[in-house]
Amino acid sequence: MPSPLIRRRYTAAQARRRYLLSFVVVLGIATSALLFTSVLSAKNTGKLFISTDIAPVHSLVSMITGNTAQVDLLLRNGQSPHDAHLKPSDARNLQNADLVIHIGGNLSPQIDRQINSLVKTDKVITLFDVEKTHHIKDLTDHTDPHVWLDIENAKLWLQHITNVLKQLNPDELALYEKNNQMAQQSLTELSQLIASKLAPVAQVPFIVQHDAYGYFVNTYGLNNLGAITGSNGHHASAATLKSVQALSEQAVCVFADVGEPTAVIDVVNEQKQLSVGLLDPVGMRLDPGASLYSELLNTMADSFLQCLQ
Ligand SMILES: [Zn+2]
Repeated sequence: MPSPLIRRRYTAAQARRRYLLSFVVVLGIATSALLFTSVLSAKNTGKLFISTDIAPVHSLVSMITGNTAQVDLLLRNGQSPHDAHLKPSDARNLQNADLVIHIGGNLSPQIDRQINSLVKTDKVITLFDVEKTHHIKDLTDHTDPHVWLDIENAKLWLQHITNVLKQLNPDELALYEKNNQMAQQSLTELSQLIASKLAPVAQVPFIVQHDAYGYFVNTYGLNNLGAITGSNGHHASAATLKSVQALSEQAVCVFADVGEPTAVIDVVNEQKQLSVGLLDPVGMRLDPGASLYSELLNTMADSFLQCLQ
């Protein structure tokens, strides 16, 4: 029996019909089945249209699809996933995607809600919920949603995405398998490289602005003493600030988040004047694409190394 994920790509005639329908919608007569430029161009070239939430997910999916799909990225322009919401055009693209792949796990509550209400569940892959995905508790004992910073999770998802794509587009089965094999190999090597890079500074204590790095910290055995804002991105209370300030006495470095205001860092850091490093957990400073995920982890390792040594 075919999987519910298998959906025939549109013929040119169907695409034209749907395009005409979109004019009717603009007139306010219908409310769904809209087609927009990016989706249309994907359909016209016979490519799958896959919608992803954050740049690391966009990167992992692109590693497998190569140029057999148009992979759309919802969170661009430095939006933090914790308080991001979609533009109406993004929401319409979501409805027309062949597949939607997002983190879930309450990383982006508003986006997750929109995906749940706009997209049929058989077209959604929620990576947080993929079987055998590794979850950890954050520093305040809540489940940490920054699951992509565990390279073993990324490898598990690459395999899962490959399996789904093979069903969706069997014509490219061999390519997907080859790309997956190469990606698995390259992430294994990257993780070994990062481990050897960070081993000399593994014991050096630090604090972070945002409790987002537990997966990375655990994987490479780093010594994170505390975080100013929680793993949900909510602002620190006065009590938290005070306790982190006390922890900073033993730290040698404090890491700010790219794209976040640094005022809290200044408050925590006013007494001891620690070195300030910069971390970019969603790749805001990197160009989206297949290589972003590896660059993100590599850059993160370099930032830790630079500040801690
Ligand atoms: Zn975060």
